[in-house]
Amino acid sequence: MKRNRYKNPEVQVVITEKKRRKRDYAIIGGVFGLVCLLTALTIWPMLSGTDISVSNMMSMFILININLLLLILLIFLVFRNVVKLFYERRNRVPGTRLRTKLVLAFVTLSLLPAGVLFVFSLHFITTSIEFWFQVPIEQALENSLAVGSNMYVHVEDNNRFFLERAAYQVDARNLMKPENLPALSNYTQIVQREFNLNAVSVYDTNFTRLTISTAESLQAGVVEPLDTNQLQKGLTLEKNTWSTTELLPDGELIRNIATIPYGAKGGDVKGFIVIGVLLPADMAEHLASISRGIEEYQQIKMLKQPIRFTYYITLSVVALLVMFCAIWFGMYLSRSITIPIMELAEGTRKVAEGDLSYSINVVADDEIKTLVDSFNKMTRDLRFNRREIEYSARKLYEQNMEIEERRRYMEIVLNNVSTGVISIDANGLITTMNASAEDMLHINAADVVKKSYKELLRNEYPKLAEEIMERFNNRGEESLAKSLNLNIGDQRRTFKVNFNALEDETGRQIGIVMVFDDMTELEKAQRMAAWREVARRIAHEVKNPLTPISLSAQRLKRKYQKVIKDPIFDECTQTIIDHTEMIRNLVNEFASFARFPTANPAPCNLAPVIYESVALYREGQRNIEFTVDIPDDLPLLNLDRQQIKQIMINLIDNAIAAIKNSGQILISVAVNPARKVEITVADNGSGISATDKPYLFEPDFTTKKSGMGLGLAIVSTIVADHNGRIYAEDNTPRGAKFIIELPV
Ligand code: ADP
Repeated sequence: MKRNRYKNPEVQVVITEKKRRKRDYAIIGGVFGLVCLLTALTIWPMLSGTDISVSNMMSMFILININLLLLILLIFLVFRNVVKLFYERRNRVPGTRLRTKLVLAFVTLSLLPAGVLFVFSLHFITTSIEFWFQVPIEQALENSLAVGSNMYVHVEDNNRFFLERAAYQVDARNLMKPENLPALSNYTQIVQREFNLNAVSVYDTNFTRLTISTAESLQAGVVEPLDTNQLQKGLTLEKNTWSTTELLPDGELIRNIATIPYGAKGGDVKGFIVIGVLLPADMAEHLASISRGIEEYQQIKMLKQPIRFTYYITLSVVALLVMFCAIWFGMYLSRSITIPIMELAEGTRKVAEGDLSYSINVVADDEIKTLVDSFNKMTRDLRFNRREIEYSARKLYEQNMEIEERRRYMEIVLNNVSTGVISIDANGLITTMNASAEDMLHINAADVVKKSYKELLRNEYPKLAEEIMERFNNRGEESLAKSLNLNIGDQRRTFKVNFNALEDETGRQIGIVMVFDDMTELEKAQRMAAWREVARRIAHEVKNPLTPISLSAQRLKRKYQKVIKDPIFDECTQTIIDHTEMIRNLVNEFASFARFPTANPAPCNLAPVIYESVALYREGQRNIEFTVDIPDDLPLLNLDRQQIKQIMINLIDNAIAAIKNSGQILISVAVNPARKVEITVADNGSGISATDKPYLFEPDFTTKKSGMGLGLAIVSTIVADHNGRIYAEDNTPRGAKFIIELPV
């Protein structure tokens, strides 16, 4: 299924885009983590209160710089995503509106507090830094250092005074003489106690300590004798006293040295007197730390601007970090919402297009997952249902095909039977009508099917239909046979109709089927046969006495013409002869009708037959204009030449009779689209009335006083013998038109 999805180029693009996004996010995440780490490392010394030393500052600088680079990369990546989002929004890529909204909401929400914090922090840092580097602090530090150094000077001044006194006394009392050593020890003890000194000692010119007196707080052994260098050092100096300091476990021991006598140089020097004062240990430490502090303070003071910038940058980095964190998180969150939504939208589109194989592969674990799962379940269900429906549809189709085939078969059968079949349902609506029925009734099935017979029937027929229906419905008759005479077009035709009730399996009446046959030709043939028989007999019976009558009349005329001069005699005999002749003609006509031989067709050219027939009249009928129109490429027809000629003579006779004085007769031949030869004899005579039209071809129909009404009957018989058809139509603008259709 997944493979299928990859085939779609559109989806392919989405997938590569997704991969790139994933890579982007990985980079953004990595850079973000690094920036966080570096920021933490940068801020750590500030927060933990570690001394801000130059080396610390340097590492902070480096960290901040790396941080800045990473931040720029982060900004670039996030900005790229924002720009992409902007363009996607402009191009109306689905899901971008929601993403933009979410990103904006996150940025706004984070910007407000972050902005306030940023401004406050900025202010705080500026004032703090200003506070740190205030002049009073530096002054206080320097003053405290001055206090410390002043104390040393003070101690030294005091000691100088004591040294001067003691040196003078030692010299004045000659205490440096070896014999006076006990007195010297005594004196040093007195000096020590009197001046409250920590240690007083005397050295001879050989730099040997002669005596030492120490305070109780200081053990005598702790104070080491001064070495030669320390003692000699002062001899070259301008100053009268000099000092050494050394650290003892109890504190800092400051020893001031003077010569005896005080201020003596060179050979005058009788010895050295040394006064030691012990300063408390923490004081020395304090002073040292103060001087170290001042040193560092001055170093840091030089870094005031860089520190400030470092803080600003760090602060900005944190603020930006928060902002980009918000943008990125907004994007991430919105993407986690919009991607499934887009997938869902895409899925919905696919499903709407009919692709039910589509399923969404979004990894989610919240409500979106429920939604996606529901969607996938829905497509699965739809797929299943569609398969079911397709299966049912196939089944249905097969059944329909079977029914259709059966129906078609029935239709073919119905359309191929020569009898007409019309079925009517229980509501009186016509349901089927076969081709033979259409042909016989000259009705188009499409015009009547699904219409009620009640609205289609006219004249006396609705009454007839009601009668038939009544017999079926009320009297429960199941079939009914009836003979009906109908005027179809211009012809009167006789039909034999069988009505049959249609019933379903439960015996319920579901309609009527009407099966009928055109009996006109058959009846005509039967009638014709009867007439022929009648005619043959009449002709036979009537013809027999005619010859003797006529011969007798002629004999009478011949014999008594000269004897009887009365013109009446002549007139009467002539009348007898004429009328006998007339009767003979009549009988001959009857006889020709009766004797009518069956057609004997042979391949024959139609055109000469027609020309010959017309030629018989053309000369005799000067007042009538004959026009003959026959195409040259007329095919040979299977005709009985003699009979066809008789047809033409009969038709032309009738046309001439219809034209009273002068007129036109047009005889044309054509091959119609149904591959039948059409012979038309048209005149502009009196025409045929609508009431006469159905009876024209009946043997006893005539409108002429002396007409026998057999002419058209004979024509119709001959045409039928040639498997053709004859019908009459009105000619335009006036007159009649007889059309004979003969098969090629
Ligand atoms: P007959 O000529 O003896 O009357 P037909 O069968 O030839 O018998 O004609 C029957 C009737 O058809 C005629 O009496 C006439 O009324 C009518 N008829 C035939 N041909 C024409 C025609 N061309 N124009 C008008 N009426 C015609």
